Amino acid sequence: MDGPINIAGLQQFACEYGCTNKLESFEKVESHGKKVAVIGSGPAGLACATELAKKGFSVTVFEKENSAGGVPVQTIPSYRLPNAAISDAVNTAKQLGVNFVFGKTISGKDAVKNLLNDGYKACFVSTGLVTSTELPLFNGFQNVANAKSFLNTVKFGSKPNFNGKNVAVIGGGSVAMDAAITAKALGASNVYAVSLEALNELPADPEEIELARGAHVTFIPASQITEVVSEGKNISALKGVNITWAEAGNFSPANARPVAGTSFTIKADYVIQAIGSSAGAEIKELATGLKHKGRGTIAVSDAFATDVKGVFAGGDIVNGGASIAQAVGEGKKAAESIHRYLLGTEK
Ligand SMILES: Cc1cc2nc3c(=O)[nH]c(=O)nc-3n(C[C@H](O)[C@H](O)[C@H](O)COP(=O)(O)OP(=O)(O)OC[C@H]3O[C@@H](n4cnc5c(N)ncnc54)[C@H](O)[C@@H]3O)c2cc1C
Repeated sequence: MDGPINIAGLQQFACEYGCTNKLESFEKVESHGKKVAVIGSGPAGLACATELAKKGFSVTVFEKENSAGGVPVQTIPSYRLPNAAISDAVNTAKQLGVNFVFGKTISGKDAVKNLLNDGYKACFVSTGLVTSTELPLFNGFQNVANAKSFLNTVKFGSKPNFNGKNVAVIGGGSVAMDAAITAKALGASNVYAVSLEALNELPADPEEIELARGAHVTFIPASQITEVVSEGKNISALKGVNITWAEAGNFSPANARPVAGTSFTIKADYVIQAIGSSAGAEIKELATGLKHKGRGTIAVSDAFATDVKGVFAGGDIVNGGASIAQAVGEGKKAAESIHRYLLGTEK
């Protein structure tokens, strides 16, 4: 094999091929009336809801946004994943009788347990990671955004005019690459991707890194921003230093050490932060007894069952952020477990 495997391309092909060729069986068994609630309509929630509907459950999906699809619809640029792939999945769920309640955030103390008391026999939590991590260094400045809200605005809102501007993207993952490529497409003269990781340590997909190189994004690897130069509430430049790792192979920010005598300054008319995300604050109180792991993710068994009876979880809120394919797989496995839990049968 000569180059990296194009994982995103394979996933996109699988989505499109499956939809076009109707690979899924849309047959469902007769309804037995048992109600299941799904929180979040991203890939995990959609997959779980669809599988349960095929098995005769009466499924309601609660979604805080006004449309279904989660991050692939709200955030991922269309050049990476055409919306048709997701809208086909939503239509399939609707055809199978899944009921969607949009504009409904499930929050508040024991909100999930309240759903169980309201007649839902089981609940699947698939809320994804909704809170973007932000650096205190950039607090209070106007020309700063996190990557998810930036990409969402570019997709659905008024596109910023970056003609002739300098844009600094902080982060070295796939989300940072998406933001950097998008900033270039909006006309920015210079887009800098500043990462703690060295080039050979970048967590982004190799294919995304190649796309960013092709778009003439300038990489500033093994580096950390230490100071903001501003005019009023607007950042005009960023100062930084090169870093090395105190402990080899540990890429956490706390493990970064400045290299003495190094310094750099880059002009920045706009800063985009792409340094990770965590569960929303509301997740902690959804059900007394839910166990949490790092960044507010939910701990589950191999069967995607939480420590609270009748409550299951899957997707990014469990795996800490992976891929669409993994979220779909977890949603399907959780549906099998919910089926076994409620009907005591394998299929
Ligand atoms: C910029 C970006 C690019 C990416 N690119 C790719 C890619 O190219 N390929 C790939 O495979 N993966 C990619 N990913 C990762 C992929 O999008 C996620 O792994 C996947 O969407 C996770 O699915 P999910 O269903 O767990 O969560 P999500 O997609 O996050 O969906 C969660 C849903 O729950 C809703 N919700 C949250 N809280 C509540 C609440 N309290 N009440 C009601 N509803 C709620 C949200 O509005 C959302 O609709 C990308 C991610 C990002 C951020």
